[in-house]
Amino acid sequence: MRKKKWYEYLWIWSIIYFALGFFNILFAWLGMIDFLLPIVIAVFGKNKWFCNHLCGRGQLFALLGGRLKLSRNKPTPHWMYSKWFRYGFLLFFMTMFGSMIFQTWMVASGASDLREAIKLLWTIRVPWGWTYTAGTASPWVAQFAFGFYGLMLTSAIIGLVVMMLYKPRSWCTFCPMGTMTQAVCRLEHRE
Ligand code: SF4
Repeated sequence: MRKKKWYEYLWIWSIIYFALGFFNILFAWLGMIDFLLPIVIAVFGKNKWFCNHLCGRGQLFALLGGRLKLSRNKPTPHWMYSKWFRYGFLLFFMTMFGSMIFQTWMVASGASDLREAIKLLWTIRVPWGWTYTAGTASPWVAQFAFGFYGLMLTSAIIGLVVMMLYKPRSWCTFCPMGTMTQAVCRLEHRE
């Protein structure tokens, strides 16, 4: 039997990440690794090595939907692959990311108070204050963590829903990180 490589277990990291957010919201900052690393690898390595080997989230969907059979395994709809949907979703996602940065800036500048809550599906505000003790970090650091964790959890929930409805890794067809790294690789290979 083939010996598994260390990075084939990164799905465990995905679970740990979300679990940590239930205890201390500041751990949400660790998600920036998953945000920046795919871009760095795409820019310097000119490939999608992150998606193919290092993404714990993709591995987790494959495991839950594949081995644990939590997916109906129906074909991923064609519209999910379409350019308009992938780039439209990327635009929407980045707009939400921008609004989260704006909220962080408002707190940093003192124009707004820290909101100890996360937003699910960009609309549902869920109180999350037990994960933060005032004074353990600057309010803006905590605000970013609440906002970022909400974004990460929202995308994980959407990914889980499409995993159950269609092929296990259907999320990957329109994942903003996947779309961005693909665009970067295309640009680099055109040079
Ligand atoms: S497309 Fe997104 S979820 Fe899928 S492997 Fe790449 S970064 Fe991970």
